[in-house]
Amino acid sequence: MSVNTIVDGIQKGAFIAGRWHEGAAGKTFDVENPATGETFCEVVDATAADWEQAFKASLEADADWRRSTIQERSSLLEAAYDICSRRSNDIATTISLETGKPYSESLAEVQYGASFLKWYSQLVVVRRNEVSDTPSGEYQMMTVREPVGPALLITPWNFPFAMITRKVGAALAAGCTSVIKPAGSTPLTGALFVEVLDEAGVPAGVVNYTPTTDAKNLSRDIMSNAELRKVSFTGSTGVGATLLEQAAPNIQSASMELGGNAPYLVLPDADIEAAAEGAIKAKFRNAGQACVGANRLIVHQDVYEDFTDAFIDRVKSLKVGYWDEGADMGPLIDANQTARVERLLESGVSEGGRIRAGGTFHDSKGYFVDPTVVTDAPVGGSLWREEIFGPIAALYSAESAEEMLKMANDTEFGLAAYVYGDDTKSLDAMAHGIRSGMVAINRPMVAESRAPFGGIKASGLGREGGTVGLDDYETVKYVAVQSRDW
Ligand code: ADP
Repeated sequence: MSVNTIVDGIQKGAFIAGRWHEGAAGKTFDVENPATGETFCEVVDATAADWEQAFKASLEADADWRRSTIQERSSLLEAAYDICSRRSNDIATTISLETGKPYSESLAEVQYGASFLKWYSQLVVVRRNEVSDTPSGEYQMMTVREPVGPALLITPWNFPFAMITRKVGAALAAGCTSVIKPAGSTPLTGALFVEVLDEAGVPAGVVNYTPTTDAKNLSRDIMSNAELRKVSFTGSTGVGATLLEQAAPNIQSASMELGGNAPYLVLPDADIEAAAEGAIKAKFRNAGQACVGANRLIVHQDVYEDFTDAFIDRVKSLKVGYWDEGADMGPLIDANQTARVERLLESGVSEGGRIRAGGTFHDSKGYFVDPTVVTDAPVGGSLWREEIFGPIAALYSAESAEEMLKMANDTEFGLAAYVYGDDTKSLDAMAHGIRSGMVAINRPMVAESRAPFGGIKASGLGREGGTVGLDDYETVKYVAVQSRDW
């Protein structure tokens, strides 16, 4: 199918109570292709009347959906998984069009995103509630899991498919209804996923979808309603803090996947080639626009020169370009992000950083930036403190493993960390000493639907995926039942 046919076939409206709507105000917003800087379609810009309706639909559907059987939820999730697999090309193409990421990365995102649907379809049927007797035999204690209730799900643009599936998969499995607010840059991928859910047979009102450019008012309005019981957000720490404030008056449950500042540690006994290859993936995947992306490459002084050479060699061979032309790396998402990354690089250089590779922001219409390596930027400087969220790799040298650990923890964030080395004792010390939600040892990726994804400190609250991912959408009820004489 051609790209235009795929785009033309996707709904451009808001999905409310099982139907696609034009939007009460008749407003639309443009969706831009970041590889060309051109608008390729328009979607409905939902306004207050739309999200009020969407929230009402989620409330009305809640009564039945919370009582749906586990088998029903599991089967729907499995059906949705099958449709995603069948339509993986359509979804991957849409992701690439909206984000500019290489097709192979988009396809990997489809597989990763869909795996949450499969995982939750399986988890929900094997998980059990508990019943036990009190020691005196006087009564029985039942621990029952119940859906937390209607949820607001706010997602970012960097993984427009997977960030929705891992929230919706858990919400559906737990028995929660939801209103999804996708990122403004990537509304089509989410719409396509909502079509998948509709085709799979998800009942009307259980999942609602409201693309809008007015995220601020949407969350304020919906969260002011005490019947909303949950907000799950992936995005920047500042917005996460605002949402936590909005959740406070109604004591709404909140899951927050926020910013990161991942250290990537190379110990003196690391396999340097493997560490350099891993750093390419951990840094430049999605053009560096990932909260788990390696932000600070901290290398033991004994191997610093070797690692830097091996890394720069690889960086120079990366091909930047359009998503279906065999590129290794695509553009940044938009003009704002590009300007932000450019400013950050300028700050790093003004503080003493040296550009050793890349550094070019293309003049073409798309938002292309060459993969860039900076050495000699100061510890504690801009590139050290801030989440770069772009293809700039900053390298730092450290005198000892102890110093590396201290440097790794010198951040308010705590999402992911990477360690390359050989000696088990040192690796173990790092894995346990690093203050973060996830640590990868001798590998550049952490994301996996069967594992809990999430951070500590300014990186957030709660986990997505793993067995605990479902807990975030549930409450536990304890029922005490007086024993009877038989
Ligand atoms: P980024 O765009 O850097 O990923 P943001 O935190 O700005 O990070 O955006 C993530 C998501 O949060 C997007 O869907 C965005 O529209 C939404 N968002 C931005 N500001 C607010 C806000 N004040 N309230 C609710 N959602 C918001």
